[in-house]
Amino acid sequence: MTKIILTGDRPTGRLHVGHYVGSLRRRVELQNSGEYDEIYIMIADAQALTDNADNPEKVRQNIVEVALDYLSVGLDPAKSNLFIQSMVPELTELSFYYMNLVTVSRLQRNPTVKAEIQMRNFETSIPVGFFTYPISQAADITAFKATTVPVGEDQMPMLEQCQEIVHKFNAVYGETLIEPKILLPDNEACMRLPGTDGKAKMSKSLGNCIYLSDDEESVRQKVMNMFTDPDHLRVSDPGKVEGNAVFTYLRAFAKPEHLAEYLPEYQSLDELEAHYKRGGLGDVKVKKLLNSVMQDILSPIRAERKKWENDIPAVYEILKKGSEVAERKAAQTLADVRKAMKIDYFNDKSLIKDRM
Ligand code: ATP
Ligand code: MG
Repeated sequence: MTKIILTGDRPTGRLHVGHYVGSLRRRVELQNSGEYDEIYIMIADAQALTDNADNPEKVRQNIVEVALDYLSVGLDPAKSNLFIQSMVPELTELSFYYMNLVTVSRLQRNPTVKAEIQMRNFETSIPVGFFTYPISQAADITAFKATTVPVGEDQMPMLEQCQEIVHKFNAVYGETLIEPKILLPDNEACMRLPGTDGKAKMSKSLGNCIYLSDDEESVRQKVMNMFTDPDHLRVSDPGKVEGNAVFTYLRAFAKPEHLAEYLPEYQSLDELEAHYKRGGLGDVKVKKLLNSVMQDILSPIRAERKKWENDIPAVYEILKKGSEVAERKAAQTLADVRKAMKIDYFNDKSLIKDRM
């Protein structure tokens, strides 16, 4: 069977280390595994406009920032199609047809949308486009006949909704769409990386992020000011690692090599955590370790970004080419969908014939 990946990000800001562990790192591995026939990576500008309708300049400016982040982590345009959602108008038409297959109450039950509505204070005035974005996301996934969608845990309800739409469509109109599978990070700490403030999710909209493009000093400052255990006041106090963002980040980012290099007196993160829990291990020491780990990971990404920042026209060219490839693929699916839905009138010889 053909193996196809579709995934993407909203251009509402630069990408952060939550995106890195939740999705980007895995994408690059999958890209380089050679196991996938087609890979589509989408910058979801139309989706970003659903809750930023009054701020088009923000979305416009962040398209290239997200593309720079992609290229700097190792997404390779020779292997992965990088494209812009709104440049593929077929996606909008698919969404319109899928809307007939979903009820308002089903959308209201989507827990991620519920949480996002609350976060944006949209309770009394939800833009219809925002409310229906899970449907447009189903259009994005199915348009490319994606089999695999590598994303963070917050996207699980979107994938479930997409699978339901595929079932319904195929049941009503005949086998046409491919059912996608979600691919979650295999490490618990990466599912939903908390913010530097300890809040449940690092998110561009919450301002609690370490960005992939942050300079060395900003990263250091953010790490040194991170939320830990508020009751761990003296070094000798026993500390908590649950809900302690510094330890969660170590679980997400640190490899055994890092510990061997920067804190060789500990054999493993388990040992480090045990010491913290017993008391006698200060926050500063753990934060310094985390800073070294983060700088190790981020410095090659930063260097690669610098290179691409000196050739912005090339970045736009990559997006233009990728969008053309993406549109061709989506147009094929749309043709299948129209045929299945019996709205391909002018192609149907049995319809266009004399009655006698
Ligand atoms: P916004 O606040 O605009 O929604 P965001 O930071 O949530 O932005 P998205 O563009 O919505 O980012 O998410 C892109 C991808 O990154 C999705 O696959 C999502 O699951 C993943 N992701 C986002 N934040 C995190 C996080 N904190 N931990 C793990 N994965 C994340
Ligand atoms: Mg989001």
